[in-house]
Amino acid sequence: MHNPAAPADEYEWPTCTACNKQLWDDEYQRQICRPCEDKTRNRLGELPDLFAQLNSTAALMRGASGGGAPTSGSKTPLIPPRLDVLNLVAAGGVAARLQAIEDSWRVALGRRIEHRTDRVRLFASWRSHPATAVPEHIAFLKINLQRAADSYESVAQDVEEIRRLHAECTAAVANERRPGRVQTGLCPIRIDGRLCRAQLTAVATNHRIRCGQCGTEWADLGAWRDLRQQQDAVLAEAAGVAA
Ligand SMILES: [Zn+2]
Ligand SMILES: [Zn+2]
Repeated sequence: MHNPAAPADEYEWPTCTACNKQLWDDEYQRQICRPCEDKTRNRLGELPDLFAQLNSTAALMRGASGGGAPTSGSKTPLIPPRLDVLNLVAAGGVAARLQAIEDSWRVALGRRIEHRTDRVRLFASWRSHPATAVPEHIAFLKINLQRAADSYESVAQDVEEIRRLHAECTAAVANERRPGRVQTGLCPIRIDGRLCRAQLTAVATNHRIRCGQCGTEWADLGAWRDLRQQQDAVLAEAAGVAA
């Protein structure tokens, strides 16, 4: 750190605590350089959209019974679950990691720690809903980034954590866009009394499933749920025959 009392020959020009580059004349009292601050601001700006995309993908991975209209109660996910996505959108994922940064900035910058409350009850942080908490944390961090960059001594570790969070979310979303298809079970349609049983496939970015053998289409999420019910019925029937 910058130590004005050090002898001139030992004096080291202060550096950015995040990237180690020497600070400019007009930056020397800052903790991190302006380019590091700008990159962090851009990453914070992109995080809400990345998180929203992962959150809607995660809804498809949690199975037909999770929320929404009542269904047959099938627990089978509409697309195969991916742990990286589910971990990021869970209460302990992006939301908790952003909250840890927000809390440390609040302490460092002398801001009040927000208690999560509905005005009657006080909630533990893990009970708040990531989909609403994430944009709130990001809004706070964007507003306070400049002050943290100026005066919060440990801001570099948070800059690094935001870089990691952004990279993890970007990678998970990119993975989702990969053109690979996922298998979504066998076609449950009966033609002339015989089950079609062709392997159905889907891509997560397009909610249309079309059977290559009998041509039946399931065009949207509601239709996917019907498909799952039909598949469950076929399985139950097969189990009944076998018993
Ligand atoms: Zn820097
Ligand atoms: Zn078919």
